Amino acid sequence: MDTQTETELRQRIVEIGRLIHQKGMVAAGDGNLSVRLDRDRLLVTPTGFSKGFLEADQLIVVDLNGEKVSPQFGKWRDLKPSSEIRIHLECYRQRANVHAVIHAHPPMTIACTRAGVSLAKCTLPEVLYDLGTIPTAPYATPASPEGPLAVRELVKKYDAIVLDRHGTVTVGATLWEAYMRLERVEHSAQVTLAAQQALNGPPALLPPEAIEKIAAMRQTVFAQMGRDVCAECNACPVSERHVSRQRASGTPDLSRLEALIEAEVRRAIAN
Ligand SMILES: [Zn+2]
Repeated sequence: MDTQTETELRQRIVEIGRLIHQKGMVAAGDGNLSVRLDRDRLLVTPTGFSKGFLEADQLIVVDLNGEKVSPQFGKWRDLKPSSEIRIHLECYRQRANVHAVIHAHPPMTIACTRAGVSLAKCTLPEVLYDLGTIPTAPYATPASPEGPLAVRELVKKYDAIVLDRHGTVTVGATLWEAYMRLERVEHSAQVTLAAQQALNGPPALLPPEAIEKIAAMRQTVFAQMGRDVCAECNACPVSERHVSRQRASGTPDLSRLEALIEAEVRRAIAN
């Protein structure tokens, strides 16, 4: 969780907004960022501004209903919160451990939705470890009440969601974590599209044993943070088998997991 002051969080939104813009993951006034200030208040970006050139004083403090709760002064006094504030509010409502939300329009990810290329496949180890799989929410009219409905169930399980023909929503314990997940999604989309083009078809999944090892590592690491992410990563048939076997046994099979990790370490040393 971010323990920074409001001044620092304002600066962090400005910096990450600039980064998202520089990396071409938003165009014009697209995208929006928010972060929890405390239990009842959020800091959000205003509607209608490029995320590459925000000023700290432009950011707006709202409550968990999206109502502006702190006055702004001078030329910024009439600014309104982001048009996608509803999606942000939904993420915070559904997950107490979400402290930051970023919505962006990364082009390769959007291209995947247009081309019918799914990112919910276990093809890349870093993605599987970090995000599980990346689901795509059904199309919703941007800035409408359809947006929060589309992500409501998915955000309970996933830290990164693709919005059909629109963009991404990534969440995290900090703004930086939400940003890193956005980068991860777009990189995954770039690699997946390039592979699809080279192969003239979908890239192969990771072998089942590789998926199982990474899923086990992911589960162990995230369990220390209180999350059963393996059970949440349910888009891949191999993961489902892994989960159902663990559910059947009642508790995670730690001896098996330790053996897997030990084997990985031995192999790394041997190499
Ligand atoms: Zn958008």
